[in-house]
Amino acid sequence: MYFNGTAQVNEKGHLQIGGVDTLDLVSQFGTPLYVYDVALIRERARGFKETFDKLGVKAQVAYASKAFSTIAMVQLVEEEGLSLDVVSAGELYTALAADFPVERIHFHGNNKSREELEMALDKGIGCIVVDNLYELQLLERVCGEKNQKANILLRVTPGIEAHTHDYILTGQEDSKFGFDLQNGQAEAALQNALNSQAFEVLGIHCHIGSQIFETTGFILAAQKIFEKLNDWKQRLSFEPAVLNLGGGFGIRYTNEDEPIAASQYVEDIITEVKNLAQHYDMKMPEIWIEPGRSLVGDAGTTLYKIGSRKEVPDVRKYLAVDGGMSDNIRPALYQAKYEAVLAGRPLEKANEVVSIAGKCCESGDMLIWDLPLPESDDNDVLAVFCTGAYGYSMANNYNRLPRPPVVFVENGEAQLVVRRETLDDLIRLDLSIQTKIKN
Ligand SMILES: *Cc1c(COP(=O)(O)O)cnc(C)c1O
Repeated sequence: MYFNGTAQVNEKGHLQIGGVDTLDLVSQFGTPLYVYDVALIRERARGFKETFDKLGVKAQVAYASKAFSTIAMVQLVEEEGLSLDVVSAGELYTALAADFPVERIHFHGNNKSREELEMALDKGIGCIVVDNLYELQLLERVCGEKNQKANILLRVTPGIEAHTHDYILTGQEDSKFGFDLQNGQAEAALQNALNSQAFEVLGIHCHIGSQIFETTGFILAAQKIFEKLNDWKQRLSFEPAVLNLGGGFGIRYTNEDEPIAASQYVEDIITEVKNLAQHYDMKMPEIWIEPGRSLVGDAGTTLYKIGSRKEVPDVRKYLAVDGGMSDNIRPALYQAKYEAVLAGRPLEKANEVVSIAGKCCESGDMLIWDLPLPESDDNDVLAVFCTGAYGYSMANNYNRLPRPPVVFVENGEAQLVVRRETLDDLIRLDLSIQTKIKN
């Protein structure tokens, strides 16, 4: 069995994370429960930062908070000295509630509303990553009204799309995000931005995909961008102070995944950008990256109580747990795969193959297909690994299931950082109908 971070088997034979017995966590906080290995998040954060420091490159590592956005997580990001990406007023509000330094917040999104842009300007956040022409014009108007200048990056689509194990090169990329680099849209946007009083154009941004296992895509993207930058340097006298190459660094969910180390991504990217800058005789830009999944993904474990069992003879054994697509929609949404163990006896030899079903009223609500497990019953707790990214952040109340709480564990201590939703929470927005019939 593969254990991430501080996960190990303790003297009782139970799964322990951050020095805390997971069965004790279940007794104290119930199930389902999201558990985060704080030491592992810190290790991942430092891994990125230290590589930039070692290579002597000015950089910002911005945590893409959409992967897991809560006040405690934002505070942890601040403790580790990273920057923060937000994609909505809600994520921005969370960051502000956590007192995150506004100058290190970057605002993303392909359809930021006027209200969101106003909020970003009013709060003085560090940078707005402009996605499209509509937004550029809207932001210019809002800046004009407020008599303010905005620091911006322009998000470009370099014509490279990362699929899990390879890259598609498309001349004109069919993407909802960003200004196309090849068809002149990016240049037109840059010219508009440079000619406007409203903007300080810090540089260029691109993000090629997610759960990427090689550095090839980042390198191809950097090459395509530099070809244009060279052109823009000659004709527009523009040289970016910042080059943001996005996130998307892959992690190990199952033994099919073979991620490379954070340091390797950073080293390869930096080497290429240094070469390109030298080749085109441009000054080395500050490099920004935006890891989400790779900072929190393998630090998260979800604990469930096993409930009903259904056997379809000669076909399949279903084991149902007390959560499902409401707390982890990734398997239903994109066939994501996970590994899991019985928290009380993680090393016991498997003697059956089961499929883990959620409790939602959807046939597609399956968490894991064909998982080898020791025979279990309803006294057992199932621990599903690597649920730290896009788990809680995509959680929902389908079937009116309350969202599970989040616990941070570190150095033998557990701290509740999001409480469990209650049944009252579920109806807190509901209003009764005004009955018109008077009797
Ligand atoms: C989602 C996203 C990220 C983070 O992606 P991960 O795969 O979680 O690392 C970074 N930058 C942008 C613009 C994104 O949309």
